[in-house]
Amino acid sequence: MLRFLSAIVFAGLLLSGCATQGAQEDGAANAMHAYLAGMPKAELHLHLEGTLSPETTVRITRRNGLDYFTTVEEVKQSLASRPPGLMGFLAHHFKSQEVMQTRQDFYDATYKLAETLADNNIVYVDVFFDPQAHTTRGVSFADMFEGIDAGRVDAEAAFGVTINLIMCIQRERSVESALEMLDQAAPFRSRIIGLGMDSGPEYGNPPVKFRDVYSRAREEGYFLTGHHDVDVRDSIKHIWQSLDVIGMDRIDHGLNASDDDELTKELARRGICLTGSPVMRSTDPAPQDVDRIMALDSAGVCVSLNSDDPEEFESGYLTNMLILFQGASGYSRADMTRLMLNAFNSIWGTTTDKNAYIAALKSYAAAHDVVWGEVMSADDSDKAAE
Ligand SMILES: [Zn+2]
Repeated sequence: MLRFLSAIVFAGLLLSGCATQGAQEDGAANAMHAYLAGMPKAELHLHLEGTLSPETTVRITRRNGLDYFTTVEEVKQSLASRPPGLMGFLAHHFKSQEVMQTRQDFYDATYKLAETLADNNIVYVDVFFDPQAHTTRGVSFADMFEGIDAGRVDAEAAFGVTINLIMCIQRERSVESALEMLDQAAPFRSRIIGLGMDSGPEYGNPPVKFRDVYSRAREEGYFLTGHHDVDVRDSIKHIWQSLDVIGMDRIDHGLNASDDDELTKELARRGICLTGSPVMRSTDPAPQDVDRIMALDSAGVCVSLNSDDPEEFESGYLTNMLILFQGASGYSRADMTRLMLNAFNSIWGTTTDKNAYIAALKSYAAAHDVVWGEVMSADDSDKAAE
């Protein structure tokens, strides 16, 4: 009997020990999530056309009298039934962006986005937009741009988020179409900070295709970036083109660089930053490319985390993506702070603004007992989750 009672007491102690350990792990995870949620953030890879929520989409389609995406369920069904891969993703993306037709639509999309970014404690953001996707179906460049820009200005005042705009070439379109886009953008040049390149397919539409467009954009004072999607044929070759032929200031995605030692070393040597997007689909088991981001980070390459098209990926907005990435990588607070420091270091704002953002990040880290020396160096940091 005594032995039986002892066994029960021992089992009880074991269970309470497990419960205590479980509670401690939950507490540590919650503390990490709170740290990531509260951290002042920058995001450098975010497509306006990929941030339309189902609710905003339906509001706009009803206002414009369209006969598709008339209910939230219809939008969600379209998202859920996408074929795998970039082109399947783009099929929904193109259909969704076509709901925007008037200046008011672009204003609403931008303003609503900024409100959500502020909820994520994002203080600086570069937002991509695709003029050709809209002008080729009859929307005027001026209506589209003035809507976006007015939404940006009002949202900055309302939510305190600084927004810069990057105009993207759709790479499947012609060089002539891209040059025409530059012509149309000329009256608004001072309000567009950079020229990017997105859409697809990438194979067959390499960066060098748009060498003359980028060259002219450089002369006109735009910063330069462009998409290098992951695991696309010739991805490494395309990144080299963007570095050596185009002279891009940043590389969007570009995570295949981790597969090539020479390219990894060159990116680290030049200090060219990659805007990584370890996004997740409903069919993915976890955020993608975590190993590649960790490899690039430990090799000294400047790589940041970004949500890309948060309404169209399961990973959602930036706070959620940071939580997912941290869970998959086991990165410490210092490591996560370094990835955010990389984003602030690669913004195209003034040095004064950049230093102020970094000072705010530094002070947030210090208030949470994060040692700045560990933030600055991937080699010195403790990779164990805190
Ligand atoms: Zn993108």
